[in-house]
Amino acid sequence: MSGIDRRSFPVVLAAPSGTGKTTLARALVDRFDDFEFSVSVTTRPPRGTEADGVDYHFVDGREFERMMDHGELAEWAEVHGHLYGTPRAELDAAARRKEYVILDIDVQGALQVRRSTPEAVLVFVLPPSVDTLLERLQGRGTEDAAHVARRLQSAMEELQHATDFDHVVVNDDFQRCLGEIRGIVEGEALRTHRAPGLRQQAEELRAGIARVLRNEYANANG
Ligand code: 5GP
Repeated sequence: MSGIDRRSFPVVLAAPSGTGKTTLARALVDRFDDFEFSVSVTTRPPRGTEADGVDYHFVDGREFERMMDHGELAEWAEVHGHLYGTPRAELDAAARRKEYVILDIDVQGALQVRRSTPEAVLVFVLPPSVDTLLERLQGRGTEDAAHVARRLQSAMEELQHATDFDHVVVNDDFQRCLGEIRGIVEGEALRTHRAPGLRQQAEELRAGIARVLRNEYANANG
């Protein structure tokens, strides 16, 4: 960004499971150099090829509790029987690097970020239809009916909070959706409260104009 110093901020993506938000979050980080992924802590055991420190920081219940008690989490929630949380250190490190950190978290967590981290921008991702949501949830193959039903139940609850978010996108066309999220971040980055030097810069311009008025327009009327 040229001409003025701007603060970066966390970008929270939340959506009912099966909306494709993890794929969106990964694609944003792959495509844009100034986006990075927030690695959460969780008490859930690793799945498949998941690696510690990459997909999650895998911790036990005691360590999770210790982090909570020490105020090391910007938010946390219990999702499908496991604890998940965002380390404040992830957000602070991204802010120092002036990068936009993407939080791929559940709706309860997103609403906590709103309170704990007011500079964050909250984006709700809507599935295009019930059929697509169902297709994605069933398409995972490994999920039994009870599992799918549980996720549909959560989706119903999460959709109630869509209006509490700052922005909404629909994941019907993946590329368009990515572009829209990028657009949201670019627009938010231009807000005056994210430019810590704005007052001083405006004052310097005013001082410059005052000099010109004194030196060159002292005798002009009106
Ligand atoms: P999974 O176990 O399938 O990776 O994630 C299950 C759910 O937990 C997803 O909805 C995911 O977005 C959410 N989740 C992952 N990390 C966090 C986190 O740090 N905080 C919260 N609140 N939710 C998380």
